[in-house]
Amino acid sequence: MTGIVIAIDGPSGSGKSTISKRVAADLGLSYLDTGAMYRAATWWCLDQGVPLEDADAVAEAVAEMPLEMVMDPAAPAVRVGRADITSAIRSTEIATAVSRVATNIPVRGELRRLQRAIIQQETGRSGRSQGRGIVAEGRDITTVVAPDAHVRILLTASEEARLARRAREVHGRADADAIAATTDQVLRRDRDDSTVSSFLTASDGVTTVDSSALTLDQTVDVVRRLIEEVRA
Ligand code: C5P
Repeated sequence: MTGIVIAIDGPSGSGKSTISKRVAADLGLSYLDTGAMYRAATWWCLDQGVPLEDADAVAEAVAEMPLEMVMDPAAPAVRVGRADITSAIRSTEIATAVSRVATNIPVRGELRRLQRAIIQQETGRSGRSQGRGIVAEGRDITTVVAPDAHVRILLTASEEARLARRAREVHGRADADAIAATTDQVLRRDRDDSTVSSFLTASDGVTTVDSSALTLDQTVDVVRRLIEEVRA
């Protein structure tokens, strides 16, 4: 059998990345964070001095980006040329600007092409997982990039749960101030992003997992069970 492809999408703060990394590590699979690719594209344009409002220049710059995704779930990394930008792409500057790059249609075409090529490679022997497969996560993975994935999951959580998780992640606490400071990143970004990809409701064949009332371990268990059903 060729490697398994597991696709997970969902809104900001739903726990996509954490769950995907855990599942990939447990099963010896590669891990692809497609959001990191859009963040890298944004970093690259800013680094190259490309104005984000110039859609053509942005698309041209992204087509030339020397991007390397390191897909080890225990230590995922993002490189552009010689620069390791794994931490830099988590800045508020990038988080605030990324939707502008991610709503550029030619950019989406280019990054989706790259994502499909990576997924394809990981299902064969030449990939980093040596054919075991990949967990790929991000907004339009289950619908547009990998609609034929063996397992397709929409990971959701209530707005309150998502805001509290992001606040804890970014500010180390989830009090009123931290939640207010996180609201733009979570809700505005999802609103902007949902103009070009649908990740708020599950399409046919995609299983919804609501993690609002689940711990991390419980959510991983639910996802592992869905994978076992397909493998059985
Ligand atoms: O998941 P993360 O917060 O890192 O995603 C950053 C941004 O990348 C999202 O807000 C969205 O604009 C974009 N994105 C996307 N399609 C994906 C993954 C991410 O448009 N598959």
